[in-house]
Amino acid sequence: MKSQSIYSSLLLCILTFSHFLTIAAERCVDFPDPLNLSKQVIVDCPPTANKDVYVKRQTTNFFEVTHNCSATAALCNNIKEAFNDAGKEISKVLKLKQIIKVNATFTDLFDPTLLGAAGSARYLPLTSDDKIIRLYPQPLVKQFSLSVHPEYDDYDIIAFFNTGVDWWFKTDNETIGSDQHDFYLIILHKLIHGLGFISSWSNLLETVVDQDITGLTPIPDFGVSTSIDYTSQLNESVSVETSFDTNLEFITQVKSSSQWEIAESAFISATTNDSSGINHVSEKHYDLTPNFLMTWSQASGETLEYAIQRGGNYSSPIGPRILSILESIGY
Ligand SMILES: [Zn+2]
Repeated sequence: MKSQSIYSSLLLCILTFSHFLTIAAERCVDFPDPLNLSKQVIVDCPPTANKDVYVKRQTTNFFEVTHNCSATAALCNNIKEAFNDAGKEISKVLKLKQIIKVNATFTDLFDPTLLGAAGSARYLPLTSDDKIIRLYPQPLVKQFSLSVHPEYDDYDIIAFFNTGVDWWFKTDNETIGSDQHDFYLIILHKLIHGLGFISSWSNLLETVVDQDITGLTPIPDFGVSTSIDYTSQLNESVSVETSFDTNLEFITQVKSSSQWEIAESAFISATTNDSSGINHVSEKHYDLTPNFLMTWSQASGETLEYAIQRGGNYSSPIGPRILSILESIGY
């Protein structure tokens, strides 16, 4: 009896820790411009044998960055050092197995309010053991070491940073100015988006027909169906194969269904009392905590060190809840 229960717990452990991921389709979604996520390109990504080489566990920085920097040598050097520090910090808190290739461009984004952006270059459709197809960010798929995977893009993360911003670097050994932004803090934030800290839910459904926003839904033309329980429930709002003459007719029916409550509650959760959107954690709840890094706005005149202290002096700028989100998506 005793050995039987040991056997069943062992089996449970194996089932809990095993990933059964298979290729779901040979079409992937590329996001060539992280500054414009509506620009999606559907590309062929045939099954490809894994050619990743073994990377030592004790590697201190799993990020390999290709820099496109036309600023002064001193500024470009500061940027490289900040990327290096950010790569090391993420490598310290996540159990990475494969090198993540980043293409980083430092250029004028012609909008001083825009700090920069980073995103996974490609999303790949995989079926997991619950039989649901999900789009996985390429840097994450690499960590699974699948023997055959959908073809990768050359880079895992694409990043842009604005030369038009007054950046502050720790290495300058000067007090941060009230209009300056700590480059290292911003890099960390953006790289975490690049790892897949992002949502495919948006307000697109209602904006397509110029209506006020009352709900969020999964982006319909994401190329491949990505599904969670809420998506399945929302799909029930209209019977399969019903045809509609106009977008408005379809949207009106979706919004009059009982399932629209899900879209409404997603909207409320994402925006209550602040404008943090759905790709970030709430400013109100997390700004003064160790999880400040992934709030929507990063105030000027504040260094990462200051934000860490204000958040309670946690041992890493990547707080425990941010880490648990990354772990829940598979890191
Ligand atoms: Zn962000």
